[in-house]
Amino acid sequence: MRDYTIRELNRVEPFLDIDFVLHDHGIAGRWAQTAKRGDQLGCLGPRGSMVVKDVFDWYVFAADETSLPALGRWVGELRPETSAHAYIEVANADAEITLHSAADLTVTWLHRDGAAAGTTTKLAEAVRGHEMPNLDGYVWAAGEAGSIKPIRHYLADEAGLDRANWDVDGYWRLNVSNFDHHGDED
Ligand SMILES: Cc1cc2nc3c(=O)[nH]c(=O)nc-3n(C[C@H](O)[C@H](O)[C@H](O)COP(=O)(O)OP(=O)(O)OC[C@H]3O[C@@H](n4cnc5c(N)ncnc54)[C@H](O)[C@@H]3O)c2cc1C
Repeated sequence: MRDYTIRELNRVEPFLDIDFVLHDHGIAGRWAQTAKRGDQLGCLGPRGSMVVKDVFDWYVFAADETSLPALGRWVGELRPETSAHAYIEVANADAEITLHSAADLTVTWLHRDGAAAGTTTKLAEAVRGHEMPNLDGYVWAAGEAGSIKPIRHYLADEAGLDRANWDVDGYWRLNVSNFDHHGDED
């Protein structure tokens, strides 16, 4: 079993849209690489989704390809004109997608430029370098657990935000199969 995000659900057609990262390290990544029309996939859930109320002044998002679907959903549902900045780490410019949002959304793409997924400090540096206008905002970071750990430390110990104003979620961990994000430590 692996966790994936419902990118879009159309109950009329019906279809359920999932964006898979294609990689050859694990069974899900490999399955997606060779998936063809007619292949079957068993789905269950959701086990429980965290929904953050859209009440904040501003939002900062930090994501890699695995959390980009969740980020896409989130910015798509933000109130008009809310200020949001998304830092997104991807392999290169070919992996960039268009994000739709009614919010005043700024997107900064961070390219790995040949480095392996889950091995850079780009997201952590971006969040640390982001100037927060006040403390009435929300920061969400998700991606490879080790890479985003410094973000958790920064938000918990240095940024000055209340605990209700941020969440950091390890979506996968380098060299770990079937990483349990519910058990993400720290
Ligand atoms: C709430 C939640 C939502 C998620 N939504 C999505 C989503 O919408 N789309 C999506 O693609 N992923 C998503 N993920 C991440 C996905 O569950 C993991 O990447 C998962 O490990 C993939 O399973 P696997 O069988 O391919 O690899 P595993 O068997 O889990 O791991 C085998 C090896 O592959 C490596 N690995 C795992 N993922 C990657 C990767 N992305 N790139 C490079 N190496 C990797 C591991 O480090 C390990 O060494 C989500 C995770 C969570 C917790």
